[in-house]
This record gives sequence, structure tokens and C-alpha cells, in this order.
Amino acid sequence: MTTDYIEAKHLKGVQKTMMTCTFCGFCKSVCPVFEDIGWDTSVARGRIIQSYGLLEKELPADPSVVENIYQCTTCKDCERRCPSSIEVVDVVERCRKDLVANGMILPQHKRVIENILKYGNPYGEKKSIVETLGMTPRNAELGYFVGCTSAYRNRNIADATLSILRKLGEDYTLVDESCCGSVMQRVGWNEEDLVALMEKNVKAVEDTGVDEMIFSCAGCYRMFKEEYPKFVKVNFKVRHVSEFLAEKELNLSSLKKTITYHDPCHLGRHCQVYDAPRNVLAKIPGVNFKEMTRHGDTARCCGGGGGVRSAYPDLSGKVAGRRVAEAEFAELLVTACPFCVNNLKVGKDEIGSKVEIKDLVEVLDPLLSG
Ligand code: SF4
Ligand code: SF4
Repeated sequence: MTTDYIEAKHLKGVQKTMMTCTFCGFCKSVCPVFEDIGWDTSVARGRIIQSYGLLEKELPADPSVVENIYQCTTCKDCERRCPSSIEVVDVVERCRKDLVANGMILPQHKRVIENILKYGNPYGEKKSIVETLGMTPRNAELGYFVGCTSAYRNRNIADATLSILRKLGEDYTLVDESCCGSVMQRVGWNEEDLVALMEKNVKAVEDTGVDEMIFSCAGCYRMFKEEYPKFVKVNFKVRHVSEFLAEKELNLSSLKKTITYHDPCHLGRHCQVYDAPRNVLAKIPGVNFKEMTRHGDTARCCGGGGGVRSAYPDLSGKVAGRRVAEAEFAELLVTACPFCVNNLKVGKDEIGSKVEIKDLVEVLDPLLSG
């Protein structure tokens, strides 16, 4: 990695945005990464100043600057807090695009991108998702986009979702999916490869003729809901599995536990899906549901997003540990994203917590009668 000044053509488009930062520091009160690192360079205003410095060629892209830009989880909490309504995540992601375009990709992210380009998933798994799950796509009304993490790193979530769809008597199918492209976009990879993935996935959905797709992963859901329509035509309905289940009559046995819910940043702050998972949990008889102090739009990030998990696992685990510590009053911490489940489990080990951590569908499936 060189330490040269870079050509920052993507940051050029947010030059004025960056200049509206008043350096008030309100973002310091919420940034989950700043809490660990404690330096201004690791909070929204610091990332903005550094991005501005790169744009104006007042700052070379040395390894410390690159690290500060890549340690943002893209959780968006600073945007909620910012009195100047600065779209911080857009600035960070544009900065990453400029770094990548100038050859400054982190080696961990390069490996992930190479895996996506070669195998269609970030984990380098050689079997496709439909092969892994042993199902052939077919014509149906409803499609299930499993996502790489549910398929390869938390199979329970894929199996529980498929079991629920069977019990509900749905006419469903898998599609011949590839990575949704979320990680590619978060780390700043080029648009050409990203759009190629989007086109491939949309075609895989269209080949099955489904009217609607449901998603396990908050990141995949956000991509199809918010990002795909900016680049490709999406002619089918897109819903997170929690939205789908919230509208269903569910015959559930009781669960006498104190439960709390973690809002995934990509589902909550990025897509405003707050009620659906809570409404699903409210259908379970016997549950004692209590919110964490920070919930809904103020929920703290699990620390896994934005490429931080793969590049900075220690930092990511510490952030996750602090989030799990907020749920210690509960017996069961539920979330609605396989990536959050996996990262919160790392956080649980980090602090030695006894809280059980599950995805919504893992809680529901054993309680649902078929
Ligand atoms: S809260 Fe907004 S305006 Fe204030 S320092 Fe942070 S990014 Fe700048
Ligand atoms: S998006 Fe999250 S991690 Fe990134 S600067 Fe804002 S609060 Fe910090």
C-alpha cells in the first residue's frame, strides 16, 4: 500500500456536504467504534475531515487514514445524531471507492471480493447456495433469498426459514442466487462488478417467475429494497422475513422467557423496519418482552457491518460485547439478521455472557405447529 495523495473523484460529489460539518462533536456520543478507539480520527467528524483532506490533496492516504476510513461499521447512528443532517455513510463509502480506485484496498477485503468474483460468495465456498441446500429452483409464488451467511455460516437460520414456509403451506422456491453485493458496495469496490451481480440475481429471481422475495439477512434485504432499484429493474415485491411473518396467522405454543430484540442497522436505521419483528415476537404466548435502553432508531450497532468484521475482528468483537452487555437482563436476545446473530455470539464469548442469542426464525420454528 502506497502513501500517495489520491485522485478522489467520488468524494468530489460531496465536497459541500463535508464543508457543512460544524465539528460540534455530537456524533461522538453514539459512534460504537469511537467508544473503543477514543481518538477523533475514529468518529464521524474525524472521518469527514480526513476525507476532505484526501479530496483536497492536503492529506496523503497513509495507512492510518485508510484504517480510520475502514473502521466505520456504516451503522448510520451518527447521521441520526447529526444536527447538520450530514450523510456520513455516503461520505465514508465514497471515500472507500476512491481509495479502492487508487489501489488501496485492504488485503482482507481483497480476499472477500476475489471470493465473490470467483465463487459468488464472500466465504470462498465452492458449492452454490441451491446445491448446498439441496434444492432446485422452480416456478412458484414466493421466493426465498437465503443469503451467504445463512447458507454457509449459520445454516440453522436457512433451515428454520424453510421449515416455517413448509408449515405455513407456502408455494415457495429458492432462486439460483449469488452474493447480493452488499459487502462489495460497503468496502468501495467498482460499480461495474456490483451491477453485474445485481443483474445476475434479478435474472435468477425472474427465471422462477415469483411475485415476491423474502430475505433472512438485513444486508441482502437493504440491497434489494434500496440499492438494486438505483441500478436495475426490480419487478417483484421485496420483504424481510419479519415483515412477511408479521402479516401471517401463526399458531404458536408458548415461551415463558424474558426476551429482548436487537435492531440490525441495515434493517432498522437504513430501512426503517422496526415494528415487524416486534409484532412477530408479540404473537408468541407467554413471552415477557423488554426493550434494551437503546432500541429502535437509537439501537447500538453489533459491530459487524461495513467490512469491519473481516478487517478488524478484535474491534468488531469488542463492539459486539458491549451490545450483548446491554441485554444481560434478558434470557434471550433475538435479532433478525444472520450476520448480527453471528457477531453478537462473538460478543457473548468476549464478555462471558449467559444470554442466549437467536434469530427470529430460530425462535419461531420450534413453537410453530405444522
Ligand atoms: S454531529 Fe454532524 S456536524 Fe457535528 S461533528 Fe458530527 S458530523 Fe459534524
Ligand atoms: S456510521 Fe456508525 S461507525 Fe461509522 S462513523 Fe457513524 S456512528 Fe461511527
